[in-house]
Amino acid sequence: MSATPAVFIDRDGTLLEEVGYVNHPKRLRVLRGSAEAIRLLNEAGLRAVVITNQSAIGRGIIDEPFLHRVHEAIDARMAAGRARIDAYYFCPHHPDADLEAYRQTCRCRKPQPGLIERACRELQLDPSRSVMVGDRWIDIACGRAARTGAVMVRTGHGAYEEQRRPVGASADAILNNLMEAVGWILRSSSR
Ligand SMILES: [Mg+2]
Ligand SMILES: [Zn+2]
Repeated sequence: MSATPAVFIDRDGTLLEEVGYVNHPKRLRVLRGSAEAIRLLNEAGLRAVVITNQSAIGRGIIDEPFLHRVHEAIDARMAAGRARIDAYYFCPHHPDADLEAYRQTCRCRKPQPGLIERACRELQLDPSRSVMVGDRWIDIACGRAARTGAVMVRTGHGAYEEQRRPVGASADAILNNLMEAVGWILRSSSR
């Protein structure tokens, strides 16, 4: 059985509005068009997998049960748009985390590729037919390191980051939002 293609999606600034930390359910704002974009992926048979750095956990700002409640709230918003996120992978660590249990230089904090690699292993996904979408260069670097495609969006920090491209970094495309990114991915011939 051949592995499935996926779109790996950054959470804050890409799927959701960038609001700093989502430390209260009221701060959850799904970006316009996100549910429609996820539904297109569902219909096309591409897995939709969220890949997110959540050092707020290591900093003690939120805890893991709260993070899961936020993701359930996102799921409810997606369901209202007949869309489904297949899985969430998060990194709770930070090298300077206040909570010792999370204080480490891990392989899962973007730009490291650990979360994508774990998702590919656990969900039988094919990185070479998959794309990482995000609003920051660390998302693009994460996709490159995991050998997926990499598309930047201008929502969240994207418009700012676009003007500050690190030497040697390049995205396969830079587009206005997640819906445009999904359109680009679905049009590209290898998928
Ligand atoms: Mg982001
Ligand atoms: Zn980590």
